[in-house]
Amino acid sequence: MSERVTRRAARRTPSHVDAGNETTAAPAPSDRAARTHKAIAATEPAKKTIALVYDFDGTLSPRPMQEYSFLPQLGIKAADFWAECTRVARAESADPLITYMHLMYKKAKEKGLRVDRKDLVAQGASVELYPGVETWFDEIASYAAERAGTAGVAVKHYLVSSGLTEIIEGTSIYRKFDNVFASEYWFDAYDLPFPKRVITDTGKTQYLFRINKGLEDQFQSINTHMPEAVRPIPFSNMIYFGDGETDVPSMALLKKNGGHAIAVHAPLASSGVRKRAKAKAGQKEKASSPAHSGLAKCIELFQAGRCDFYATADYRSGSDLFKRTCLLLDRMIADIRVREEMARLG
Ligand SMILES: [Mg+2]
Repeated sequence: MSERVTRRAARRTPSHVDAGNETTAAPAPSDRAARTHKAIAATEPAKKTIALVYDFDGTLSPRPMQEYSFLPQLGIKAADFWAECTRVARAESADPLITYMHLMYKKAKEKGLRVDRKDLVAQGASVELYPGVETWFDEIASYAAERAGTAGVAVKHYLVSSGLTEIIEGTSIYRKFDNVFASEYWFDAYDLPFPKRVITDTGKTQYLFRINKGLEDQFQSINTHMPEAVRPIPFSNMIYFGDGETDVPSMALLKKNGGHAIAVHAPLASSGVRKRAKAKAGQKEKASSPAHSGLAKCIELFQAGRCDFYATADYRSGSDLFKRTCLLLDRMIADIRVREEMARLG
């Protein structure tokens, strides 16, 4: 954003930054502006689109998507690969996400394996999803339609992931999303693919603003000021689903702007199975199993006010996650009805 545009925007909304990292939606208006704002709020039509936004790895799927096919076909252990990514990124002062995308193809080349775009898409079929994920989208749509009645509320689903667009395209749920924002490769570049788009933890918030402003094409300027009243999906109509530290910027953005967030963790039952299996083998269960550390992270996020709820990543109808999501949907639908009634009076 140019300095001139920044100054112009600053004059319009003193405490409001127009870039993707804006954190406060409500400027301190003058009395006259406040009266105008109230008049708009009372008469403007209710925004009837609700957006559910998901992280992928650890949220919809138990493990990073590269661990299901890409790394096994190279005969590389996942823990070794991620440890090397961290080591190389630190040594080179490189972005960790660019580093993992680079190392994937460096390793493939070393093993003499050619992996094209269509191969990556095919690998999506082997990505495991948490229970109920495949039916979740239709069931949530049915629930919202039933609760909204004649209000005509629409629910959209968005994926914002640091994982790979190509692998996500091959999963069974790809077509359930209204839009997918994920990292992606450029396959025409010399002999090794290189990152075309990288979505970092903080970069995810740009896409929340794109959904908020209805500017989903990345070539539409996200920095142009858009009054709250004309933004098609207010943050208060959004729920973000994530599983950990990398989701903090997205959760924080929504929570600070009246939106919602739910943190999920791996089912503890699976660690219970592991516990019994290990006990049988005469081993002690480690206190730091992935499922337990996932739950601990959720509790930490909840206590820090990053999320409204946390739940096991069980997306089946009747699960705690399903019920807690429905509670937030109920609240948003009630708010839409209130605004509609206000608009009618106005
Ligand atoms: Mg995740």
